[in-house]
Amino acid sequence: MWPDGTQCAVALTFDLDAESVWLVDQANAHNPAYLSQGVYGPKVAVPLLLKLLADEEISATFFVPGKVAEDYPQTIQAIASAGHELAAHGYTHDSPVSLSPDEEEKALVDARRILEQYQSPVLGYRPPMGDFSEHTLGLLEKHRFLYSSSMMDDIRPYRHPGLRVIELPIQWIIDDTVHFWFGGDSWTKKISTPSEVREIWDGEFDGIYHLGGIFTLLMHPQVIGRPSRLKMLKEFIGFMKSYDQVWISTCVEIAKHLDTVIP
Ligand code: ZN
Repeated sequence: MWPDGTQCAVALTFDLDAESVWLVDQANAHNPAYLSQGVYGPKVAVPLLLKLLADEEISATFFVPGKVAEDYPQTIQAIASAGHELAAHGYTHDSPVSLSPDEEEKALVDARRILEQYQSPVLGYRPPMGDFSEHTLGLLEKHRFLYSSSMMDDIRPYRHPGLRVIELPIQWIIDDTVHFWFGGDSWTKKISTPSEVREIWDGEFDGIYHLGGIFTLLMHPQVIGRPSRLKMLKEFIGFMKSYDQVWISTCVEIAKHLDTVIP
């Protein structure tokens, strides 16, 4: 499955949601303090992440809602100029399940058109809220997206049956929000320490490495971009690099390779 001698692939992925996740909550859509949780992503976290990724000489993938790209053009330009991949993440952050088929198609096409002003072609997709409607896969195929990174049913990539679309699987355990998310509706939830998350991610990476899978680390700038967590991420990247024959690349480069080897 992997290029000669490579044992596993790693993709560092960032869902740059900015305010879009919080705007789904209509009751707080005009509450600047509430929305500032998302503002932290483009305002503070992305510059810190771009520095970290440059220091580590890693190209990553940023999944961006079209509306966020419209609101933060300088941030999107900085990501693209640094050589990272831009991929679609809806137009707003509304679940595709809540949209009509026409609305979902428009969101997908609009998001790609907006992102392609910075980098073309845009070939990847991850749905807002992690939701697929019954139309999503057909729309990805119709609009010639090469890959999706949405499903939790494998640790190895695969091609969706009967379609060209490649799947780069994810899972909650390697999603930063599960461990670090905190909101006003979760006062009793403890925020994990970076060392707790390192222990979990180290074990998952080691297992996926030995099984020859793909480690698709799913992060959000507004979540992972706190100083203590960035320190953990840098150390974790060093841990992954200490293994032999690990291929760290963008989702699209990994998917392009897989497209040539998966029937
Ligand atoms: Zn998102």
